[in-house]
Amino acid sequence: MPFVPSPLGEREGRDSARRVEVAVLGAGLAGLSAANCLCGQDVEVLEAASHIGGRTKSARFGNSAWANFGAQYLTDDKVKVVELANEVGATLVPAPFGEFGITDHLDDDVRKEVQLQIERVEAEQARPRPATAWELDDQSFASWLGPCSDAAASFWDHWAGGMLCCSITEVSLYGVLWWWGNQRTSPWSDQPVESSGRGATVLAGGTNELTIGLAQRSGARISLRTQVVAVIPTGGEYVIRARCEGEAVTLRARHVICALPAPVAASVCKELPGWKQQALGSVRYGGFLATPMLVAPADRPVGPWRFSVSRPNQVYNANDFRLRTPGDAEQSGVCYHSYVYDRYARQIWDDPDDSITSGAVRALLAEFPEYTNRVEWVGIQRWKYGLPHYSLGHMKRLDALRAPVGTLRFCGDYCSPSNMEGAARNGERAAAEVKAEMEVHS
Ligand SMILES: Cc1cc2nc3c(=O)[nH]c(=O)nc-3n(C[C@H](O)[C@H](O)[C@H](O)COP(=O)(O)OP(=O)(O)OC[C@H]3O[C@@H](n4cnc5c(N)ncnc54)[C@H](O)[C@@H]3O)c2cc1C
Repeated sequence: MPFVPSPLGEREGRDSARRVEVAVLGAGLAGLSAANCLCGQDVEVLEAASHIGGRTKSARFGNSAWANFGAQYLTDDKVKVVELANEVGATLVPAPFGEFGITDHLDDDVRKEVQLQIERVEAEQARPRPATAWELDDQSFASWLGPCSDAAASFWDHWAGGMLCCSITEVSLYGVLWWWGNQRTSPWSDQPVESSGRGATVLAGGTNELTIGLAQRSGARISLRTQVVAVIPTGGEYVIRARCEGEAVTLRARHVICALPAPVAASVCKELPGWKQQALGSVRYGGFLATPMLVAPADRPVGPWRFSVSRPNQVYNANDFRLRTPGDAEQSGVCYHSYVYDRYARQIWDDPDDSITSGAVRALLAEFPEYTNRVEWVGIQRWKYGLPHYSLGHMKRLDALRAPVGTLRFCGDYCSPSNMEGAARNGERAAAEVKAEMEVHS
């Protein structure tokens, strides 16, 4: 049956006393992975946006091109996401950007300096210790690096910006050990890295294909444009207050899975104990600003882009236009998945959309002058909660972040690791907790 998202009440009528067994808050990958695990149960998913999938948002253009606004690709170690993609029949294709030497563009002196720092990082990865050890969790990567040239610091800052959406002054040494190299499922290099055997892949048709598949497979009711404003514990169940297109709606649920970004969870979940409020409130996110750009095939030019003013000397693309849809740009056209991470996103966040998209097109044409007259469409998406990062002390708070409060469960990529794999694994973990609780009471 085709999946038809419906606002709360559309199917059932607006019944303020309506009850469900499980309410899932947020239809991102975490919430939908949880709903998928609870397939066959009485589940309703409440989602503020008008699309499902949260940060996996994408849009299709015909058969061969699509725009990813958020999540881009899977590395070989994202075994859970690959398993889910297979389960729902979403097609994974080899990522079209191939291998590249991360230090290739550096001058010789800087490359030597960075190489020595890489050896130090890898030596740390060969010494497993508790994640909460002071030198790992409470020390920033910048401080661990110690004195180094601006060029080397800039190399690391750009890497941390792209991978973790933060600066080297904000991320702990532990966060870097987790993300450096190919062992992104663990900070330690002495364990075999789980592998899907697929290499780096992208979802054909856009990353949203995975979350749409999960939504369909879960059989859950999905209520879009439904913003949760309060979750209140009342007599062994939860009252969920939401707003759907200006109207107040209420749902009652015995179990709640909160799959919202941590700051939103902290603000809507009422009567949380202090330790939980504190943990949720401590999660730090970097913002992303995405401007996917569709380029027409060479034989179908669309004319010049209508430029607006953009900032001079501003970075409007931070991934060297490496991320793109597969295929031959000249023959069939291509979509570049351009974005800037927190450092640059902050600088242009409040600029008008047409200024930002024009800046992005200028950057594209500087790299590919042959695309003059071929830029067909440019999207824009500001992700305030772009990526949660490993701020200082994060690992000490992880148990509290994952812990339930009564029958209110918490999941999302802030429960680590901060990527699709983390979102999916944590969604499934929350669903398993709910199932266990249901069995106890059955
Ligand atoms: C630009 C970008 C690039 C990325 N690239 C990659 C990548 O290449 N590989 C990778 O693995 N990961 C990548 N990620 C990270 C990945 O997208 C996330 O880790 C993952 O999608 C998070 O899923 P989630 O369910 O935890 O959160 P979300 O997807 O944010 O889901 C939370 C949902 O809650 C909804 N919501 C918020 N407030 C309310 C409310 N009050 N009421 C109801 N609903 C609400 C939101 O609309 C959202 O749908 C990227 C992220 C971004 C932004």
